[in-house]
Amino acid sequence: MTGTLAAGTDVTTLLTGRAAPDLAAAEAAAAALLTALGVDISTPAMERTPARMARAFQELLTPRAFDLTVFPNDEGYRQLVIERSIPFTSLCEHHMLAFTGHAYVAYLPGPNILGLSKLARVIEMFACRPQVQERMTQQVADWLNEKLSPQGVGVVLVAEHLCMTLRGARAGGSETVTSALHGVLLDDHRAREEFFALAGIGGRP
Ligand code: ZN
Repeated sequence: MTGTLAAGTDVTTLLTGRAAPDLAAAEAAAAALLTALGVDISTPAMERTPARMARAFQELLTPRAFDLTVFPNDEGYRQLVIERSIPFTSLCEHHMLAFTGHAYVAYLPGPNILGLSKLARVIEMFACRPQVQERMTQQVADWLNEKLSPQGVGVVLVAEHLCMTLRGARAGGSETVTSALHGVLLDDHRAREEFFALAGIGGRP
């Protein structure tokens, strides 16, 4: 099986169903939001802030297009492929504040393997949208399971949520850990423990 998304493909629309952003409208809305919150945006330092806010949110909500290159597993590789500590930033859909952390992604190849750098792009694809960490973890695992038909998939996300650490509970430094498993990584405790050991995140699900 091979599959590619052509470079330049608008993955934002393709994968999130969102319309192309209207930056002028977003800038006006950011100005209205700040003004409504009592922030004086007429100062020289802040007069461009609504435009910067609009672009910053656009960036956080727009994954870069990438070629999904899937290769046949001609070598018959039958061990775990693990990518550790992939950094990501997403936006919590409840507050539109960032949650940021690292992803640990593994799969046990079946007929297909994926270019290694693509695992980070898959994480980015699901991070650049309004999210909750639990759903993002499952989406990454489901996507790899569907595209690669592997023998197993394991995904762990470890992240700090600004909506929890800066406000609300103000639980500074706390991290949220979520996992999603498929195939032998779900069914076979030895494979699962190997994944957690090799990923260096310890513990059992
Ligand atoms: Zn939140």
